[in-house]
Amino acid sequence: MGNWFEALMNFIYPPHCPLCHKYVENRGDWCTVCLSLACQPHRLPITAPMQSVIDSAWALSVYRGGTRELIRGLKYHDRRSNLPYIKRLLQEAEKSAGVRKLLEESIWAVPVPLHAKRQRERGFNQAELIFADWLQDHSIPMKNMLRRVRQTRPLYQLTARERAVSLREAFQLQTGGKVKGKSVLLVDDIMTTGATLYACANVLKQAGAGKIQALVLASDQG
Ligand SMILES: [Zn+2]
Repeated sequence: MGNWFEALMNFIYPPHCPLCHKYVENRGDWCTVCLSLACQPHRLPITAPMQSVIDSAWALSVYRGGTRELIRGLKYHDRRSNLPYIKRLLQEAEKSAGVRKLLEESIWAVPVPLHAKRQRERGFNQAELIFADWLQDHSIPMKNMLRRVRQTRPLYQLTARERAVSLREAFQLQTGGKVKGKSVLLVDDIMTTGATLYACANVLKQAGAGKIQALVLASDQG
């Protein structure tokens, strides 16, 4: 974007914080207060069966307030103008030593896939959109190594046990996909029970992947 155009845009439509709408200097910035409230990198507790395939799992925020609005806007209203705010949050999260370690240890990132039908309807996979650009800055390529072969019923209609059974068969390695020996960072927008990440990690582990870690934008655990 030319400087004059940017200056004009900033004059007509000044950059503002996505939450409190306070004016900020650059487009995509948050005000410092809202950013520090939204950006809360934390390690997620993972259950015993998950620990056998997932080395560690991290969330960068919690699924409420601003983060929830940004994710919902992107997913359900195709609001890609939310992406610069999300990227700014990801960059802020790098202040956490744990997040930096995740980045250092990962060779590839693999997004949790949507079923092909869902992806056609939505036009994109939000996990990819959220993380691709930021991970590219860290030289971690996004590889679509998995596919979702079963459309599961909405998970909130199922008990934990039914969820696990329903998800067990839901993912497969992409035809010709090779992950042997690769350290993988599984990425998704939200983690609720972790059952989806667990199902994906299982497929990657069976295909010979090395260390598997998981990263979600937001945790949603009650
Ligand atoms: Zn703000």
